[in-house]
Amino acid sequence: MTASKPPPGGKSLGVIARPGDAIGILGGGQLGRMLAIAAADMGLDVHIFTPETDSPASRVARKTWVASWDDEAALTEFAASITVATIEFENVPVAASDLIEAQGKPMRPGGRTLARAQDRLAEKTFFREIGIEPAPFERIDGPDDIQPALDRLGGNGVLKSRFSGYDGKGQVRLKGKAPATAWADVGGAPSVLEAWIAHDREISVIAARSANGEFVAFDPPENDHSGGILRRSTFPSSASKAVLDEAKAMAHNLANALDYVGVLALELFLTKDGALLANEFAPRVHNSGHWTQDACRTGQFEQHIRAVCGWPLGDPTRWADGEMINLLGDDANGWEPALAEGAKLHLYGKRHAVDGRKMGHLVRLKPRA
Ligand code: ATP
Ligand code: MG
Repeated sequence: MTASKPPPGGKSLGVIARPGDAIGILGGGQLGRMLAIAAADMGLDVHIFTPETDSPASRVARKTWVASWDDEAALTEFAASITVATIEFENVPVAASDLIEAQGKPMRPGGRTLARAQDRLAEKTFFREIGIEPAPFERIDGPDDIQPALDRLGGNGVLKSRFSGYDGKGQVRLKGKAPATAWADVGGAPSVLEAWIAHDREISVIAARSANGEFVAFDPPENDHSGGILRRSTFPSSASKAVLDEAKAMAHNLANALDYVGVLALELFLTKDGALLANEFAPRVHNSGHWTQDACRTGQFEQHIRAVCGWPLGDPTRWADGEMINLLGDDANGWEPALAEGAKLHLYGKRHAVDGRKMGHLVRLKPRA
């Protein structure tokens, strides 16, 4: 056998897991499931840690630890079984991530990034520190803070709890709502008040950074939400090249500032006067990037696993245009017509279709314009 070629630039790629090794994923949802499938396709074993029984990811993994996030014995045993670990949702307690690192197993991303992503105030403050403009916001520690902050922000805003929001949960529009009611609606918890942005559209950048600082971004999609939940991503976005290049540069800046390893997503508002404002970032693969596995040479799940393992990043070139549609609740019953129509179907194996629950997605592809 000939020796393998040296990595580009002669830098060490820092391979930390090889085919045949086990990698860990914290969290058992659909993102973990699709990461596990991608990892298995590259010869890795996947071990899942999740408090949830019968989780979507556990059903495709080699081993699963079902235990609570503060079960140190279970976390220690899990850490001993793997080479490197990653997350599939950002609200994994930092202490659990730190415990795994203390066992000598790298966490990609690590606790510092998680802490920033878990607290909307820390996240938006960090954006400002690194020169990324977030939607204007104010810190809210009690109901009396709301009205003066709203006045300063121009009278139209959305109150968001600082911790553990997703899919629009823990958020309330202030339109015509008494501050005390809004405060109760977000659970009476520390919050931020954000100016409501009359945006032209929402786009997201899904990108990967490797341990040696290589950065590659997918073509940004354009995202439609309703009721705070992503319904559809259209790719590519029809925004100008200049806007999309700026969006990618913002994600690059963010990934460098976090010294990030893996795939991340940056959600952006494009305002009516053409400015990009950051909404939030996700230190993980992202719903608005699901189409990449069907429409690009390397999809986001494979890309994340490559980065986490210290392997060369893949080519993100897109070979199709199209749209990704989330199947929420009973939408998933439409799997048969979706297949008949020729769409690419992905179902997450969830047993119960609850209203608004992400059950699967489909991707409609057409030749690149
Ligand atoms: P997800 O988990 O889906 O990303 P989330 O709970 O973290 O959601 P956000 O991303 O903050 O919530 O908000 C969800 C959606 O609500 C946004 O994508 C956007 O459509 C709308 N939204 C949130 N904040 C604002 C704002 N300040 N101005 C205008 N629209 C907003
Ligand atoms: Mg969001």
